[in-house]
Amino acid sequence: MSLNGFPKSRFNELLDLFDRYKGVTVEITFFTSATHAPLPLNVFRERAAILKDRMEQARKRGYRAGINILTTIGHHNENLDNSLKGDYTFMTNIDGKVCNGSYCPNDKKMQEYVRNIYELTALAGPDYIWIDDDVRFGHMPIGYGCFCDNCLGIFSSESGVLYTRESLKKALDEGTVDEKLKIREAWLQHNRNTISGLFKLIEKTVHSANPSMPIGFMTGDRFFEGYDFTSWAKILSGPDSAEVIWRPGGGYYADINTNDLAGKSHDIGRQVSLFTGKCQIN
Ligand SMILES: [Zn+2]
Repeated sequence: MSLNGFPKSRFNELLDLFDRYKGVTVEITFFTSATHAPLPLNVFRERAAILKDRMEQARKRGYRAGINILTTIGHHNENLDNSLKGDYTFMTNIDGKVCNGSYCPNDKKMQEYVRNIYELTALAGPDYIWIDDDVRFGHMPIGYGCFCDNCLGIFSSESGVLYTRESLKKALDEGTVDEKLKIREAWLQHNRNTISGLFKLIEKTVHSANPSMPIGFMTGDRFFEGYDFTSWAKILSGPDSAEVIWRPGGGYYADINTNDLAGKSHDIGRQVSLFTGKCQIN
Protein backbone atom coordinates (compact mmCIF):
# COMPACT_ATOMS: atom_id res chain seq x y z
CA MET A 1 0.00 0.00 0.00
CA SER A 2 1.36 3.41 -0.92
CA LEU A 3 1.07 6.14 1.66
CA ASN A 4 2.80 8.70 -0.54
CA GLY A 5 -0.32 10.80 -0.90
CA PHE A 6 -1.11 10.65 2.81
CA PRO A 7 2.19 11.25 4.65
CA LYS A 8 2.02 10.44 8.34
CA SER A 9 4.41 13.29 9.14
CA ARG A 10 1.90 15.84 7.82
CA PHE A 11 -0.87 14.18 9.79
CA ASN A 12 1.17 14.39 12.98
CA GLU A 13 1.85 18.06 12.30
CA LEU A 14 -1.90 18.59 12.06
CA LEU A 15 -2.48 16.80 15.36
CA ASP A 16 0.29 18.92 16.93
CA LEU A 17 -1.54 22.03 15.74
CA PHE A 18 -4.80 20.85 17.28
CA ASP A 19 -2.96 20.02 20.50
CA ARG A 20 -1.58 23.56 20.72
CA TYR A 21 -5.13 24.93 20.93
CA LYS A 22 -6.73 22.52 23.38
CA GLY A 23 -10.50 22.66 23.53
CA VAL A 24 -10.93 24.04 20.01
CA THR A 25 -11.01 20.62 18.33
CA VAL A 26 -13.17 17.94 19.88
CA GLU A 27 -13.55 15.48 17.04
CA ILE A 28 -11.88 14.85 13.69
CA THR A 29 -13.88 13.64 10.71
CA PHE A 30 -11.91 12.05 7.90
CA PHE A 31 -13.21 12.28 4.34
CA THR A 32 -12.76 9.23 2.13
CA SER A 33 -11.76 11.30 -0.92
CA ALA A 34 -11.26 14.81 -2.22
CA THR A 35 -12.99 14.09 -5.54
CA HIS A 36 -16.67 13.58 -6.09
CA ALA A 37 -17.18 10.40 -8.13
CA PRO A 38 -17.15 7.02 -6.30
CA LEU A 39 -13.75 5.45 -5.67
CA PRO A 40 -12.79 2.04 -7.07
CA LEU A 41 -13.32 -0.57 -4.35
CA ASN A 42 -9.62 -1.45 -4.05
CA VAL A 43 -8.75 2.24 -3.50
CA PHE A 44 -11.52 2.56 -0.92
CA ARG A 45 -10.14 -0.52 0.86
CA GLU A 46 -6.65 1.02 1.02
CA ARG A 47 -8.00 4.27 2.38
CA ALA A 48 -10.13 2.55 5.02
CA ALA A 49 -6.95 0.88 6.31
CA ILE A 50 -5.13 4.22 6.44
CA LEU A 51 -8.06 5.86 8.21
CA LYS A 52 -8.20 3.07 10.80
CA ASP A 53 -4.62 3.91 11.75
CA ARG A 54 -5.17 7.69 11.65
CA MET A 55 -8.28 7.48 13.83
CA GLU A 56 -6.34 5.46 16.40
CA GLN A 57 -3.64 8.15 16.42
CA ALA A 58 -6.28 10.86 16.89
CA ARG A 59 -7.94 8.99 19.75
CA LYS A 60 -4.60 8.58 21.54
CA ARG A 61 -4.51 12.37 21.74
CA GLY A 62 -8.05 12.55 23.09
CA TYR A 63 -10.10 13.34 19.98
CA ARG A 64 -13.19 11.53 18.77
CA ALA A 65 -12.71 10.36 15.22
CA GLY A 66 -15.17 9.39 12.49
CA ILE A 67 -15.45 8.95 8.75
CA ASN A 68 -17.42 10.97 6.19
CA ILE A 69 -18.10 8.91 3.07
CA LEU A 70 -17.90 11.66 0.46
CA THR A 71 -19.27 9.52 -2.34
CA THR A 72 -21.86 6.82 -1.84
CA ILE A 73 -23.45 7.09 -5.30
CA GLY A 74 -21.35 10.07 -6.49
CA HIS A 75 -21.92 13.80 -6.91
CA HIS A 76 -20.78 14.68 -10.44
CA ASN A 77 -18.23 14.12 -13.20
CA GLU A 78 -14.80 14.53 -11.67
CA ASN A 79 -11.57 12.52 -11.81
CA LEU A 80 -13.42 9.88 -13.81
CA ASP A 81 -10.20 8.16 -14.98
CA ASN A 82 -9.44 7.20 -11.37
CA SER A 83 -13.00 6.54 -10.24
CA LEU A 84 -15.32 3.53 -10.14
CA LYS A 85 -15.69 1.65 -13.41
CA GLY A 86 -17.79 -1.36 -14.30
CA ASP A 87 -21.21 -2.53 -15.24
CA TYR A 88 -23.16 -0.02 -13.15
CA THR A 89 -26.16 2.08 -14.20
CA PHE A 90 -25.41 5.78 -14.39
CA MET A 91 -27.76 8.34 -12.89
CA THR A 92 -30.10 9.14 -15.78
CA ASN A 93 -32.31 12.15 -16.44
CA ILE A 94 -35.74 12.16 -18.04
CA ASP A 95 -34.25 12.74 -21.51
CA GLY A 96 -32.00 9.69 -21.12
CA LYS A 97 -28.78 11.67 -20.53
CA VAL A 98 -26.41 10.27 -17.90
CA CYS A 99 -23.97 11.56 -15.29
CA ASN A 100 -20.76 9.51 -15.56
CA GLY A 101 -19.76 10.36 -11.97
CA SER A 102 -23.01 9.31 -10.27
CA TYR A 103 -24.90 6.02 -10.22
CA CYS A 104 -28.47 4.83 -9.77
CA PRO A 105 -29.18 3.80 -6.16
CA ASN A 106 -31.69 1.21 -7.39
CA ASP A 107 -29.02 -0.65 -9.38
CA LYS A 108 -28.43 -3.99 -7.61
CA LYS A 109 -24.75 -4.03 -8.56
CA MET A 110 -24.30 -0.50 -7.23
CA GLN A 111 -26.05 -1.55 -4.03
CA GLU A 112 -23.43 -4.29 -3.66
CA TYR A 113 -20.69 -1.66 -4.07
CA VAL A 114 -22.39 0.51 -1.41
CA ARG A 115 -22.63 -2.47 0.94
CA ASN A 116 -18.91 -3.11 0.48
CA ILE A 117 -17.77 0.45 1.17
CA TYR A 118 -19.95 0.83 4.26
CA GLU A 119 -18.73 -2.50 5.59
CA LEU A 120 -15.10 -1.46 5.07
CA THR A 121 -15.85 1.85 6.78
CA ALA A 122 -17.63 0.30 9.76
CA LEU A 123 -14.85 -2.26 10.23
CA ALA A 124 -12.26 0.55 10.34
CA GLY A 125 -13.85 1.38 13.71
CA PRO A 126 -14.93 5.03 13.44
CA ASP A 127 -16.86 6.66 16.29
CA TYR A 128 -19.52 7.63 13.72
CA ILE A 129 -20.15 7.51 9.96
CA TRP A 130 -21.47 10.39 7.87
CA ILE A 131 -23.32 9.92 4.57
CA ASP A 132 -22.58 12.94 2.39
CA ASP A 133 -25.12 14.85 0.30
CA ASP A 134 -24.52 13.00 -2.96
CA VAL A 135 -27.47 10.88 -1.82
CA ARG A 136 -30.00 13.05 -3.66
CA PHE A 137 -31.45 13.42 -7.16
CA GLY A 138 -29.82 16.38 -8.84
CA HIS A 139 -26.37 15.72 -10.29
CA MET A 140 -24.38 17.88 -12.66
CA PRO A 141 -24.55 18.01 -15.65
CA ILE A 142 -27.91 16.22 -16.07
CA GLY A 143 -30.10 17.73 -13.34
CA TYR A 144 -32.80 15.53 -11.86
CA GLY A 145 -32.67 11.70 -11.93
CA CYS A 146 -33.13 8.89 -11.82
CA PHE A 147 -35.15 7.90 -14.85
CA CYS A 148 -33.15 4.85 -15.94
CA ASP A 149 -35.08 1.89 -17.34
CA ASN A 150 -34.97 0.07 -14.00
CA CYS A 151 -36.31 3.09 -12.08
CA LEU A 152 -39.09 3.53 -14.66
CA GLY A 153 -39.96 -0.15 -14.18
CA ILE A 154 -40.14 0.29 -10.41
CA PHE A 155 -42.34 3.36 -10.81
CA SER A 156 -44.58 1.52 -13.25
CA SER A 157 -45.11 -1.20 -10.61
CA GLU A 158 -45.80 1.41 -7.93
CA SER A 159 -48.26 3.37 -10.07
CA GLY A 160 -49.80 0.55 -12.10
CA VAL A 161 -49.07 2.46 -15.32
CA LEU A 162 -46.37 1.49 -17.79
CA TYR A 163 -44.21 4.56 -18.52
CA THR A 164 -41.45 5.38 -20.96
CA ARG A 165 -39.28 8.44 -20.31
CA GLU A 166 -41.27 10.27 -22.99
CA SER A 167 -44.70 9.38 -21.62
CA LEU A 168 -43.66 10.11 -18.04
CA LYS A 169 -42.30 13.52 -19.05
CA LYS A 170 -45.58 14.26 -20.77
CA ALA A 171 -47.58 13.14 -17.74
CA LEU A 172 -45.49 15.28 -15.37
CA ASP A 173 -45.69 18.39 -17.54
CA GLU A 174 -49.06 18.25 -19.28
CA GLY A 175 -52.72 17.88 -18.29
CA THR A 176 -54.72 19.58 -15.55
CA VAL A 177 -53.14 20.79 -12.32
CA ASP A 178 -54.80 17.92 -10.44
CA GLU A 179 -53.45 15.36 -12.90
CA LYS A 180 -49.93 16.78 -12.74
CA LEU A 181 -50.08 17.02 -8.96
CA LYS A 182 -51.13 13.40 -8.65
CA ILE A 183 -48.23 12.03 -10.67
CA ARG A 184 -45.70 14.44 -9.21
CA GLU A 185 -46.70 13.36 -5.70
CA ALA A 186 -46.36 9.74 -6.77
CA TRP A 187 -42.87 10.46 -8.14
CA LEU A 188 -41.89 12.15 -4.86
CA GLN A 189 -42.98 9.04 -2.99
CA HIS A 190 -40.98 6.94 -5.43
CA ASN A 191 -37.89 9.04 -4.64
CA ARG A 192 -38.54 8.76 -0.87
CA ASN A 193 -38.73 4.99 -1.32
CA THR A 194 -35.46 4.85 -3.28
CA ILE A 195 -33.55 6.71 -0.57
CA SER A 196 -35.26 4.62 2.12
CA GLY A 197 -34.14 1.45 0.35
CA LEU A 198 -30.54 2.65 0.16
CA PHE A 199 -30.58 3.65 3.83
CA LYS A 200 -31.97 0.27 4.90
CA LEU A 201 -28.99 -1.34 3.20
CA ILE A 202 -26.52 1.08 4.82
CA GLU A 203 -28.09 0.71 8.27
CA LYS A 204 -28.06 -3.08 8.13
CA THR A 205 -24.44 -3.15 6.91
CA VAL A 206 -23.10 -0.68 9.47
CA HIS A 207 -25.02 -2.01 12.46
CA SER A 208 -24.10 -5.61 11.61
CA ALA A 209 -20.51 -4.54 12.29
CA ASN A 210 -21.39 -2.34 15.28
CA PRO A 211 -25.03 -2.11 16.48
CA SER A 212 -24.54 1.21 18.27
CA MET A 213 -22.62 3.05 15.54
CA PRO A 214 -24.12 6.54 15.02
CA ILE A 215 -24.93 7.22 11.37
CA GLY A 216 -25.29 10.78 10.10
CA PHE A 217 -26.76 12.22 6.94
CA MET A 218 -25.93 15.52 5.27
CA THR A 219 -28.94 17.07 3.60
CA GLY A 220 -29.80 20.19 1.67
CA ASP A 221 -33.20 21.39 0.57
CA ARG A 222 -34.79 18.16 -0.63
CA PHE A 223 -37.85 19.28 -2.58
CA PHE A 224 -37.36 16.65 -5.30
CA GLU A 225 -36.58 13.84 -2.82
CA GLY A 226 -39.71 14.37 -0.73
CA TYR A 227 -38.12 15.73 2.48
CA ASP A 228 -38.70 12.43 4.28
CA PHE A 229 -36.29 13.25 7.12
CA THR A 230 -38.23 11.64 9.96
CA SER A 231 -38.61 8.34 8.16
CA TRP A 232 -35.00 8.28 6.90
CA ALA A 233 -33.69 9.05 10.39
CA LYS A 234 -35.78 6.21 11.82
CA ILE A 235 -34.35 3.82 9.24
CA LEU A 236 -30.76 4.90 9.94
CA SER A 237 -31.33 4.44 13.67
CA GLY A 238 -32.05 0.74 13.11
CA PRO A 239 -33.71 -1.85 15.35
CA ASP A 240 -31.47 -1.02 18.32
CA SER A 241 -32.25 2.71 18.15
CA ALA A 242 -28.68 3.83 17.53
CA GLU A 243 -27.98 7.55 17.57
CA VAL A 244 -28.61 9.42 14.31
CA ILE A 245 -26.95 12.76 13.52
CA TRP A 246 -27.97 15.26 10.86
CA ARG A 247 -25.98 17.90 9.00
CA PRO A 248 -28.20 20.43 7.23
CA GLY A 249 -26.21 22.01 4.43
CA GLY A 250 -26.39 23.29 0.91
CA GLY A 251 -25.30 26.21 -1.13
CA TYR A 252 -23.02 28.67 0.57
CA TYR A 253 -19.45 28.05 1.67
CA ALA A 254 -17.74 31.46 1.59
CA ASP A 255 -18.21 34.79 3.32
CA ILE A 256 -17.96 37.07 0.29
CA ASN A 257 -21.66 37.53 -0.40
CA THR A 258 -24.02 38.18 2.52
CA ASN A 259 -27.03 37.73 0.25
CA ASP A 260 -26.07 34.05 -0.01
CA LEU A 261 -25.80 33.91 3.77
CA ALA A 262 -29.46 34.97 4.08
CA GLY A 263 -30.43 32.33 1.52
CA LYS A 264 -28.53 29.60 3.29
CA SER A 265 -30.12 30.58 6.62
CA HIS A 266 -33.52 29.88 5.08
CA ASP A 267 -32.26 26.59 3.55
CA ILE A 268 -31.02 25.42 6.93
CA GLY A 269 -34.11 26.70 8.72
CA ARG A 270 -36.34 24.58 6.49
CA GLN A 271 -34.20 21.50 7.05
CA VAL A 272 -33.98 21.94 10.82
CA SER A 273 -37.75 22.49 11.06
CA LEU A 274 -38.30 19.06 9.53
CA PHE A 275 -35.84 17.19 11.72
CA THR A 276 -36.25 16.59 15.42
CA GLY A 277 -33.09 14.59 16.19
CA LYS A 278 -29.54 15.74 16.83
CA CYS A 279 -28.41 18.38 14.35
CA GLN A 280 -24.95 19.64 13.50
CA ILE A 281 -24.80 22.96 11.64
CA ASN A 282 -21.90 23.20 9.20
ZN1 LIG B 1 -32.26 4.56 -11.87
